[in-house]
Amino acid sequence: MDQIVIDRWDSGTADWNQGVANDLWGETSSYRHATGAEVLPCPGCGNHQNLIVEGCWDDPLTVLCPCGDVLTTDPDRSWSPANDWGRNVLKRLILNAADPTYEARRLRPRVVECHERERLLWSSPLGCYRMDPEDFELAVAVDLDASDLGAALTRALKPALPERHGGLPLTLVLLHVALALRDPLVRDSEDGQRLQDAVREALGDFRTWGAQGVAR
Ligand SMILES: [Zn+2]
Repeated sequence: MDQIVIDRWDSGTADWNQGVANDLWGETSSYRHATGAEVLPCPGCGNHQNLIVEGCWDDPLTVLCPCGDVLTTDPDRSWSPANDWGRNVLKRLILNAADPTYEARRLRPRVVECHERERLLWSSPLGCYRMDPEDFELAVAVDLDASDLGAALTRALKPALPERHGGLPLTLVLLHVALALRDPLVRDSEDGQRLQDAVREALGDFRTWGAQGVAR
């Protein structure tokens, strides 16, 4: 594999946020995103390229690094569903290997979900709607008229990969979209076009809704 990008919840960052919350003088700007996108590194040498992935559909993920180190994700998923990320990533890799446009079909519902979640808040009768500034700034920063939407997303997101790229759900899903659209097989496919339409629609609405009020 060239690289394996995963969304990972970080308990250290969550502890940090709890510390900020407990601190009387803590400022909201000190909070960090507990979930971030990361490139899976070799535990031994930190390399994240030319990895060989092994496993079957319902197996844990086993990653072999050229340095000889092996990473196997936890095979016991009984005590925590969060434990199952390796298996889920392996299934994603198997499906992508069989058909790269699977990634576009996987990501489109996540984009639509972000869009609909925001629409619910925006249309709530309480009249106190405020968009998160991170989402609004991102929606404004992306050139929606660009012919290459993936490149436009990359310019706006400035991905911090292979290190952790923190963000709200919209930021993280758009990062995955930008990575998926790098592949012309995905970008030019029907599923890829539908994914790009969903992104343009969501960000277009976010611009309109955010112009009415952003939480500061
Ligand atoms: Zn290694």
